[in-house]
Amino acid sequence: MEDSICATATPSGSGGISVVRVSGPQAVKIADKVVRCRRGGVADMASHSVRFAAFVAAGGAAEEVLDEGVVTLFRAPRSYTGEDVVELACHASPYIVRRLLSALTDAGARMAEPGEFTKRAFLNGKMDLSQAEAVADLIASENKASHDLAWRQLRGGVSDEMAALRARLVEFAALVELELDFSEEDVEFADRQALRALLDEAGARVAALRRTFATGLALKEGVPVVLIGRPNAGKSTLLNALLREERALVSDIPGTTRDTIEEVWECAGVRYRFIDTAGLREGRDEVERMGIRRTVEKMRTARAWLYLFDAAAMTLDEARAEAAAWLRRLEPGASAATVAGGSASVAAMSEPRILFVANKVDAAGRAAGRDADTVYLSARERQGIDLLEGALRELLPPMPDGDTVILTNARHYEVLGRLADTLDRVLAGLNANLSGDLLAQDIREALRHIGEITGEVYPDELLGTIFGRFCIGK
Ligand code: GDP
Repeated sequence: MEDSICATATPSGSGGISVVRVSGPQAVKIADKVVRCRRGGVADMASHSVRFAAFVAAGGAAEEVLDEGVVTLFRAPRSYTGEDVVELACHASPYIVRRLLSALTDAGARMAEPGEFTKRAFLNGKMDLSQAEAVADLIASENKASHDLAWRQLRGGVSDEMAALRARLVEFAALVELELDFSEEDVEFADRQALRALLDEAGARVAALRRTFATGLALKEGVPVVLIGRPNAGKSTLLNALLREERALVSDIPGTTRDTIEEVWECAGVRYRFIDTAGLREGRDEVERMGIRRTVEKMRTARAWLYLFDAAAMTLDEARAEAAAWLRRLEPGASAATVAGGSASVAAMSEPRILFVANKVDAAGRAAGRDADTVYLSARERQGIDLLEGALRELLPPMPDGDTVILTNARHYEVLGRLADTLDRVLAGLNANLSGDLLAQDIREALRHIGEITGEVYPDELLGTIFGRFCIGK
């Protein structure tokens, strides 16, 4: 972090203003080679103040004025990165931005790598690792639910809880280690009873946190809903009926593999991803079978299966039997009873619910309506669509208010899994009267896992993966 970095913080393309950011020990000196204020330079500005200025590039004899704009100065450590930061706001011409960046690199700055500003913020202690990860989520958030989750995490969420747990475990580790110094005397400084209580509490809390992951993931990436039904049951008609009611229709999600067809639908700030199972026919060649495997994978991790059938042609019981047959394809051990019960445990992470959708009630001569696990509707006549929407909303627990933590990050989910195992081991050791040094070792390992979430301990390549996903300029 000896060198100073620069990048544009705003996207290139149309817009009124672009912001070019310089950060590092030489930021002010470098900016002063490019910025011409009416009086004085950037170095004379008060921190957190703004000035009108011209931006110049060194030309042959005279300087070439590139643009006019404003300069903002943030002196270390009160800046995003914790270093001196100078922001130049210019007109949003890609040409001006390019020239400005090359003037800055000529003056001694280096082009920033993806996520490097946030990485520096992390390394300078402006935020912990889970908060830095939340910055990426916040930038990527596209609806109320994903924004809400990122915002919670940015404000501290998981970190706060982990810090509290850490503080209490550190105390025990220290006491147990202290006992080792007095091993001749056979004393116990660490209250085993209290340690056991803490481990029980921490274990339960970690398990509860891990359980929020399925919801967190669904909210962040969209609630995956699988649509199943015989040909002609009305799947396309139903999708159209749902999608047409919402103006904000997004047809695909960048970054996801699109080997299964997905339709995206937003309702009440939550995004749903409808996964079509049309590809789930008996596969003849290897490619088809691979496609099927991926579809099956998606089905396993779906939040719900909508089992659509033609109510004029089939009874609910027949539909249940058919659904049970589908289920057995995914999980040979599953029985019809689990289907009838309305839930099936096909994945460890989430438990998809089966919701029966009895379509074509107009042709069946009955009214739209709803039972516990069945919605009766007419997709074509648009009767009962609102009942289905209500049932879909119930797939997710209401967003807990305040600062309740919801896991959204797969890395945190994995580390918490290791933490849970380690806490179990400490508890088992305690129950088996394990010697103090082994106990202390296990507690230290638990502390290390906690540190992996907040970023107190991190392998270098982890920072590479996390910040590499950011865009340049963040
Ligand atoms: P898919 O093969 O499951 O996608 O089924 P489609 O959506 O293509 O529908 C098959 C046929 O059923 C079409 O002729 C639709 O017009 C008809 N259909 C769909 N929904 C309804 C409904 O609610 N009532 C009636 N009477 N016909 C419907």
